[in-house]
Amino acid sequence: MFEINRRRLLDRFLRYVRIATTADPNSGTYPSSEGQRELGKLLAAELAAMAAEDVVQDEHALVYASVPSTVGDAEVPVVALVAHVDTSPDAPGENVCPSVIENYPGGDIELANGEMIRVDACPALRDLVGATLITTDGTTLLGGDDKAGVAIIMELVQTLIENPQLKHGPVKVVMTCDEEIGHGTDKIDLQKLAADVAYTLDSGGAGIVDVETFSADAATVRFLGDNIHPSIAKDRMINAVRGAADFIAALPRETDTPETTDGRQGFIHANSISGGVGEATVELILRSFDAADLETYAESLRQIAASVESQWPGLKVEVNTRRQYRNLGEGLAKLPESITLAEQAFENLGRPCTKAIVRGGTDGSVLTEKGLPTPNLSSGQHNIHSVREFACLDEMVAATEHLVELLSLWSNQRA
Ligand SMILES: [Zn+2]
Repeated sequence: MFEINRRRLLDRFLRYVRIATTADPNSGTYPSSEGQRELGKLLAAELAAMAAEDVVQDEHALVYASVPSTVGDAEVPVVALVAHVDTSPDAPGENVCPSVIENYPGGDIELANGEMIRVDACPALRDLVGATLITTDGTTLLGGDDKAGVAIIMELVQTLIENPQLKHGPVKVVMTCDEEIGHGTDKIDLQKLAADVAYTLDSGGAGIVDVETFSADAATVRFLGDNIHPSIAKDRMINAVRGAADFIAALPRETDTPETTDGRQGFIHANSISGGVGEATVELILRSFDAADLETYAESLRQIAASVESQWPGLKVEVNTRRQYRNLGEGLAKLPESITLAEQAFENLGRPCTKAIVRGGTDGSVLTEKGLPTPNLSSGQHNIHSVREFACLDEMVAATEHLVELLSLWSNQRA
């Protein structure tokens, strides 16, 4: 038998969260912050030290490594494991000061600066009595999103190398950058990776397999008016601001908005407006689990635009939509084992499993669309993108054990 080394997994996690890797949406570079390259360098050195193969940090700072098959030359599928090293710009990420709570007694948690993690606001805490939790001092996020995933994959690699009796096919590791600002998959070379299936370790809690995401388009609506000094504007000015305001007022408001929907319901979200009399721009995102709804949403934007144009003679309204990503479930249907084996692995371990849908996208949405089926698995993250973020070591250990079992199941498959 083997055992996951809890202490080593914890030490790893604490080491990684101390390196600031906040993604910077205003940076022109890739990765968007130097800390990501620094953490990647550390990971590559650790992978090399544990004798993983093909270890490289490429020119984009992505880290790749592999663990060779232990089931001989049989043609078994290649499984890739993916996590992102960057953290969200939505909360401070410098000088993370992790704090370990052993044997959590239950109840609200007071952080060093007086900030509270309340059970009422985070009911998942009720199931974690007795567990080891890692919080911050309340001034920064923790970065368990996704350094919990990073640590799990790193510990898995070491566990596999130390236990050659564990059955698995070829395993590939990919540590990506800038996931939080929508660029997590930009630089992944899928040809070079040559994997048959992948898993991102970037979901919350334990026992979750994310099997669907939104399908997503974005729309830019431009209002082209005609500016002239207001003193001489009679019958001459065409005010784009008026057009933009009417357009937004005509959007659905009782339904089909982020504020009025949940579960499987989609929405149109006007998330930015800018401009002046001569020209104004409204940015929107369109979301639905059914990609066909996105065309319906786009059509309603075009109809509203036409109606606004007719109300303001001379005003031009242009609607441009662009594709963002597609529901993970569409691509996973081509490789159902990507989900069923993950469920089977939980069952074999005697643990509950929940299939979940994500009201957003994951790196897996994009990888799956590009042809690499990639469900998302739990990694013990909680309250992400917040100074009240915490991670659960027991759930991270469980996620590592699940991967060992999952890889064993894949090694019985044929590529
Ligand atoms: Zn994440």
